[in-house]
Amino acid sequence: MITLFESENHKNVWFNDLSSGHMVQANQHLIVDNGETMILDPGGHKVHTKLYAEVAVRFPVNGIKHIFFSHQDPDIIAAANGWLMMTDADAYLSALWMRFIPHFGVDELVQDRITPIPDEGMSVQVGQNPVKFVPAHFLHSSGNFQVYDPISKVLYTGDLGASLGNSYPVVEDFESHIQYMEGFHQRYIPTTKALKMWVNTVRQLDVDIIAPQHGAVFPTRELSAKFIDWIDSITCGVDLMGDSFPL
Ligand code: FE
Repeated sequence: MITLFESENHKNVWFNDLSSGHMVQANQHLIVDNGETMILDPGGHKVHTKLYAEVAVRFPVNGIKHIFFSHQDPDIIAAANGWLMMTDADAYLSALWMRFIPHFGVDELVQDRITPIPDEGMSVQVGQNPVKFVPAHFLHSSGNFQVYDPISKVLYTGDLGASLGNSYPVVEDFESHIQYMEGFHQRYIPTTKALKMWVNTVRQLDVDIIAPQHGAVFPTRELSAKFIDWIDSITCGVDLMGDSFPL
């Protein structure tokens, strides 16, 4: 477990080493405020068992009140049923994906504990402080949200900022980190316009740390600003492609 932020009543921590085998490395983030916990993008079945154990030894299980799903991918949502069965948490997911999640085996009994997030986003109270679900559609999923925590000033960017193949958990040198992000962003993010919309949105937020769901975290204001500038400078998805698909 790595701590991103800590004050008397508020804590932001993450796990980066619970993935195994052929599964893509994924981070699981927690926001804890006054004894209440929100888990962000908890992951699939194999991660579920380990994460539940890791969380349970550190925080009261009955304090797990919120589960956030940034989008519908299996590395995020596959264990939704287990989390809802083993906690009394409420979960949150883009309204676009609500009718798809039953395919992951979400039981009818717990389905109504999943709140659809409207396209414009929403705020949720964690402990005594609000956490904001920021729209980030097409980054990369068509119904996609990020989380902004105004206490720690951490922006949780989901798949945006993902790095693959780097061995370190925290970025120190931005320039040498680009090689681990470039391919993912060019192929998984569908259109440059979505990147520009995100840049215009997050420049209105006060961000100290950017924490993606895969790979390394940007731990300072300076590195977070460099990341936002980099996103503003790249081209991705269909904008890199020709007029037809190769046959
Ligand atoms: Fe994804």
